[in-house]
Amino acid sequence: MSKMIDRDRVIYSFNQGNDSVASVRPGEIFTINTYDCFSGQLKSEDDGIAEMNWNHINPATGPVYIEGAKKGDILKVEIIDIELESPAVMIAAPGEGVLGHLIEESVTKILPIEDNQVIFSDKYKFELKPMVGVIGVAPEKGLDISTGTPGEHGGNMDCKLLGPGASVYFKVQTDGALLAAGDMHALMGDGEIVVCAAEAGGKLKLRLEVLKDKDMPVPFIEKEGLISTVASAKTLDEAVEMATEKMANYLVSNYGFDLTEAGLIMSLIGDAQICQVVDPLKTARFTIDQNKL
Ligand code: CA
Ligand code: ZN
Repeated sequence: MSKMIDRDRVIYSFNQGNDSVASVRPGEIFTINTYDCFSGQLKSEDDGIAEMNWNHINPATGPVYIEGAKKGDILKVEIIDIELESPAVMIAAPGEGVLGHLIEESVTKILPIEDNQVIFSDKYKFELKPMVGVIGVAPEKGLDISTGTPGEHGGNMDCKLLGPGASVYFKVQTDGALLAAGDMHALMGDGEIVVCAAEAGGKLKLRLEVLKDKDMPVPFIEKEGLISTVASAKTLDEAVEMATEKMANYLVSNYGFDLTEAGLIMSLIGDAQICQVVDPLKTARFTIDQNKL
């Protein structure tokens, strides 16, 4: 049995002052048990968001202290497996998300997970694509960043690439890095346009590596030969620009291109993509197939 980090200890903001709930060694496989982003408060379609306690949104289990991780190191987090609890739940509500100005009534939707599918209705059953919405490390000293907000430290990136087989890289800002995670999704499209996805509690199996003397633009994702730089900003325009610059600089540093050359290549075979457009900062990624470089 690998180590299990229980969900009885959660945080609602990433900062260096959080006490760690467990420690793990690099290379060790361990599991983080997480609640859904509503802390399990919505159990049926009669449970409305009006009665919900909004102080318990986006719990992230942890933080976990990583032995040997020091400020300036790069932390590689490999997502080995995600096991979700059924059912998942989602909401749509007036004023929330991209369609919020058109939605007249709040709806709570329960989505059973069966046979590797998310059951929306008898007619609509979609393939399960599990991912983790909130994952990150303590940010720079003095910062206190809500688990609802994404940033350089990770956090609420809501990036659908963050499923089994993906690795995500963060910069360590304090001893032990203080990794926490939560907000898992059974299925989400780019944008997360109604403000949430198929939200589910469950188990996130991870393995970590601490990389010394390495610099990378963070957050950085590797999955099935694709690499992505991730950035969050007030507007999607800014987020796209930041993610694109991060990738251009990465290609210059690692592949010997000059910046213009990197730009030309990125314009041909790279993709500027949306992670989410519904959180306090919007998140974009720039993705390119490293096998073509
Ligand atoms: Ca989220
Ligand atoms: Zn979520």
